[in-house]
Amino acid sequence: MPTPILVLNCGSSSVKYQMIDVDTEEVLASGLIEKIGLAFGNLTHTTQGLLYRIDETIKDHTEALALVTRAFDLWGPSLSTVVAVGHRAVHGGERFRATTLITQDVIDGLTDLSELAPLHNPPGIAGIKAAQKMLPDIPHVAIFDTAFFSTLPPEAYTYAIDHDTAVKYHIRKYGFHGTSHSYVSKKAAQFMERDLEGFNQIVCHLGNGASISAVQGGVAVDTSMGLTPLAGLVMGTRSGDVDPGLFSYLQREAGMDSQEVDALLNKQSGLSGLADGSSDFRDLWDKIDAGDEHAQLAHDVYVHRLISYIGSYMAVLGRVDAIVFTAGVGENANRTRELIIARLNGLGVRLDPERNTPRNKVPTLISADDSSIAVLVVPTNEELAMARETFQVIN
Ligand code: AMP
Repeated sequence: MPTPILVLNCGSSSVKYQMIDVDTEEVLASGLIEKIGLAFGNLTHTTQGLLYRIDETIKDHTEALALVTRAFDLWGPSLSTVVAVGHRAVHGGERFRATTLITQDVIDGLTDLSELAPLHNPPGIAGIKAAQKMLPDIPHVAIFDTAFFSTLPPEAYTYAIDHDTAVKYHIRKYGFHGTSHSYVSKKAAQFMERDLEGFNQIVCHLGNGASISAVQGGVAVDTSMGLTPLAGLVMGTRSGDVDPGLFSYLQREAGMDSQEVDALLNKQSGLSGLADGSSDFRDLWDKIDAGDEHAQLAHDVYVHRLISYIGSYMAVLGRVDAIVFTAGVGENANRTRELIIARLNGLGVRLDPERNTPRNKVPTLISADDSSIAVLVVPTNEELAMARETFQVIN
């Protein structure tokens, strides 16, 4: 008998879902709803190798989840076999440090946390409520993006600001992309046939959003994202680290209000801001090859920021067994990986060019045999990790 789990990832205008059999880890169906709240929305649903599509206006998350039900009813498999639903919850704050069965109290807790994650938590809550209506008789579970980083030591999560203000407003480093960092770090140790407890690694989750973590014996000890997912590495459209003095400077000199500064740093910065709208590495490399100086600078800044973090986490960990690349850029952009590792040659880290192939769908060692640190590509699978976590909680 299969054990299907439905995993849901609700964004402000999108819903991603997968039905996964946790016994075989087979994806029984997957789908994506886009453009919720706009005039023309759509759903795509894939099962048994066939792709189906519905185009219609989707007002809100309740309508989106009703459409998910319709897709399963029309094309299968039957939702009646699903044993539990796993929901991606972005911000767990100080309260939620592990995957949690959803009760009304948990929904209230998430609602309180919306102040810390105004872009991410409200759509997640809307998705939970709608899914509970759709599947009222089975458990719903929340998987927190921040949970893996609840092990950070105080010296890593504390910002050096006034203590009382920090306590009052829950200001600290939380970290994000935890499901991916957790999944990938376990997979990397397994692939290297090493006990997780003795394995130190630096995990680079490089997607449209990007973050890096220092993982000591399976336990996260530092990460680049902070109070919000804006801090750290250069991302597709997010700036990553900037001088905090920039906020008041822009308010004073450019007359921007806090929403405008937020929009600038989250949506008009990063690679896109530097390279005239190119946030995707495929566009970026096309422009670099055509001699575009802005694209070249964007890539240089990206690599510089990343190797600065890698160097810093080498010092934090003391001994590093592996540097691990994952997510869209980390798994596919072999030319970018080559340039990153080239900057670490002075520390004895070396790639094997033959192993550094463009698309890595399975864990792959890409470093040379004489490299001081193993370099790996480990494809992430947040949906599978969420399904597994959900199954653990309901058992
Ligand atoms: P993610 O957020 O993990 O889905 O990653 C999305 C990003 O991965 C895109 O914005 C691209 O920059 C990058 N990406 C995806 N496919 C490729 C590819 N074949 N080559 C280079 N970069 C890629």
